[in-house]
Amino acid sequence: MYIDSHAHVDGTEFDADREEVIERARAAGVSKILNVGTGDPHSGALERAVELGRMHESVYTAIGTHPHDARLYDDQAEEKIKTLTKFKNVIAWGEIGLDFHYDNSPRDVQIAVFKRQLHTAHECNLPVVIHTREAESETVEILKSDYADAKRRGIFHCFSGSLDLARNAIELGFMISFSGIITFKKADELRAVAKEVPLDRLLIETDCPYLSPIPYRGKRNEPAYVVEVARCLAGIHGIDIEEMAHITSQNFGSFFHL
Ligand SMILES: [Zn+2]
Ligand SMILES: [Zn+2]
Repeated sequence: MYIDSHAHVDGTEFDADREEVIERARAAGVSKILNVGTGDPHSGALERAVELGRMHESVYTAIGTHPHDARLYDDQAEEKIKTLTKFKNVIAWGEIGLDFHYDNSPRDVQIAVFKRQLHTAHECNLPVVIHTREAESETVEILKSDYADAKRRGIFHCFSGSLDLARNAIELGFMISFSGIITFKKADELRAVAKEVPLDRLLIETDCPYLSPIPYRGKRNEPAYVVEVARCLAGIHGIDIEEMAHITSQNFGSFFHL
């Protein structure tokens, strides 16, 4: 059994066939999906994500305000997310973090909102899902200073960073989730980093509908394809795909106490 630790199945890309996509995942052996609700917190997007998790036993939910939308985060958004985290199958706060590649929100706002959500997630006793792009040192610095609690728990999702970032993540006690990026031809450096991550810190994800793994590149991604991420990661660590599936599923289960 596989677990897709990060997907966006509630997105409009799946409006036409969402139930079939969830069924195909099940048929492919994907027993659980962590669906991550993002977007404008005032738009109803987060409610839709929570609703999907309420309707499917196998779909768990993370909600939070993505760094792209940090400029839209305010008191009202915070109260709404806090309320929504009480619903069935909501197990994480995220994705939150810093994205200095797109800079869709001003950097100072991203930093302030990231810190604020770390505190609130901790208050709500929820682990966090971290998105970081081209902001490695800033992200690590914030996690070390503003999230310096013994109980801090989180996942670096769609990991595509340096070995240095991976080492920092491990030292912080975080999980590291790899996506289809590790299957890409030009990802030798990332595969070398993945090899250094201890087995008990590994998770796998699709981040669908984006980043389809080889051999599905160019197509819409979906949770069933997480099998290809497991296959690649198993090869990197020199173990069977079944073993990697087992290890990453166990890691997910024990991390979230499921
Ligand atoms: Zn992300
Ligand atoms: Zn995502």
